Amino acid sequence: MANEQNIGKTKIYSCPICQADTPHVIKGQKRETFALLCNNCGTGSLVQSDELCLYQLHWEEELRQILGSLEESLDDERHPD
Ligand SMILES: [Zn+2]
Repeated sequence: MANEQNIGKTKIYSCPICQADTPHVIKGQKRETFALLCNNCGTGSLVQSDELCLYQLHWEEELRQILGSLEESLDDERHPD
């Protein structure tokens, strides 16, 4: 996460106004700091790239767990014993 190809991408981040994790568009980047804009309410946030990476990891992990539990229940249906 170190160049301008991040700009315009959507990342999940905690919005102080929405008080929830919402999609944010990356509007700009200066060194290790991203300027994000909440898709929901339009509030801007400045976030360190490290912090943003942690957020994505957290969400990807959660997504994996959800997908994993879906696969497990599909397995149960295929092997109902
Ligand atoms: Zn918001």
